[in-house]
Amino acid sequence: QLTTGLESAWNKLRGTDVLTKENIAEPMRDIRRALLEADVSLPVVRSFIESVTEKAAGTDVIRGVKPEQQLVKVVNDELVQLMGGEVSDLVFAKTGPTVILLAGLQGVGKTTVCAKLAYYLKKMGKSCMLIAADVYRPAAIDQLTILGKQVGVPVYSEGTEVKPSQIAKNGLKEAKSKKTDVIIVDTAGRLQVDKAMMSELKEVKRAVNPTEVLLVVDAMTGQEAASLVSTFNVEIGITGAILTKLDGDSRGGAALSIKEVSGKPIKFVGRGERMEDLEPFYPDRMAQRILGMGDVLSFVEKAQEVMRQEDAEELQKKILSAKFNFNDFLKQTQAIAQMGSFSRIIGMIPGMNKVTPAQIREAEKNLKFMESMINVMTPEERERPELLAESRERRIRVAKESGKNERQVSQLVAQLFRMRAQMQKMMGAMQGQDTPDMEG
Ligand code: GDP
Ligand code: MG
Repeated sequence: QLTTGLESAWNKLRGTDVLTKENIAEPMRDIRRALLEADVSLPVVRSFIESVTEKAAGTDVIRGVKPEQQLVKVVNDELVQLMGGEVSDLVFAKTGPTVILLAGLQGVGKTTVCAKLAYYLKKMGKSCMLIAADVYRPAAIDQLTILGKQVGVPVYSEGTEVKPSQIAKNGLKEAKSKKTDVIIVDTAGRLQVDKAMMSELKEVKRAVNPTEVLLVVDAMTGQEAASLVSTFNVEIGITGAILTKLDGDSRGGAALSIKEVSGKPIKFVGRGERMEDLEPFYPDRMAQRILGMGDVLSFVEKAQEVMRQEDAEELQKKILSAKFNFNDFLKQTQAIAQMGSFSRIIGMIPGMNKVTPAQIREAEKNLKFMESMINVMTPEERERPELLAESRERRIRVAKESGKNERQVSQLVAQLFRMRAQMQKMMGAMQGQDTPDMEG
């Protein structure tokens, strides 16, 4: 079992100050075994272990942090990075209906995903239409029709006699005339990858020029997921994947391979048969699942403890020297973004207030808005916000490059200085009191 594997890996590290290739070799072997047990494919495990070893070796162990915790943090961060780092949103068409084409083997959950996605998008305020382009079994059309009814979304079908590409094309036309925001095309799968399925998918793709081509993958596929995804990607070109049946006893290893092998992100995960059991894919949570395997807490808490200490120390230094800048600002807003996803978990605990998806979206939108301006700043501007405060020219440039206006940039700069002032005031108030013992 993974947890005991990691537990023993950690024990071996006790009492060291610096992580070296030598002293992490044995824990890394255990982590390697753990990943293989989680059904991650061998080539992915190999390159992962290599890059983590590279990253971890030479790292000083932070004061007050155990070396094994430091290693955990590196492993965790790398896993998150490997799976794309951030949530990868759906792309919507600039004009006309957004077309989402679903592909995948038989029984992986395509038809279910159609309805789940429609349900999800409907909650976002988008109008949807499902298109029944699986013509090989009349039951498939019935299934989609029933699910469509269940989520209150129209289903376009033409029976089993018309070619899938033609149905998709006609469906798109209908969606255009009704000004539907999103159409989701359900296609037929086979038990195995075969030529007929691929050429049919290509034909449908040509007919409707989809905004998103999402490959639906059953999480139970495990190691096979890697080659499956790369085959589909090469043959038809996908924009992302949806990992289903994560509620089962699958070990999640498929998630790790998908991005690495295809370069395409996982956009959603399915966690059950109900319509609400579809959620965006969070690389950090998946990392925790893969590593935690039923004992998430001990592992993740350890890693988070390290992050908190690192940040707290650095931030304290910054505040004391009045240098809180846009890089720190980004760090803080990212911490808040993480809390956003965290609040969803809180919402599941009885008695706690549920944060609505709308509230989270709003907060995330605000963060993105600010980040887009910070992203176009030069490194010096991020480091020394004074530059922006002093130069209108710079503010205008940032506004232009980020597609915002000058006032919005000024507001952001003002906000940073407000935060800086607030922090210094807080530090002032704390002076005279005992400073916390950072040695731990
Ligand atoms: P398709 O052949 O790819 O269209 O697959 P279906 O959508 O018909 O799904 C096949 C079976 O898997 C159905 O019984 C679904 O209810 C079930 N299913 C789909 N997604 C999930 C999931 O996330 N979790 C679980 N437990 N079952 C799922
Ligand atoms: Mg189906």
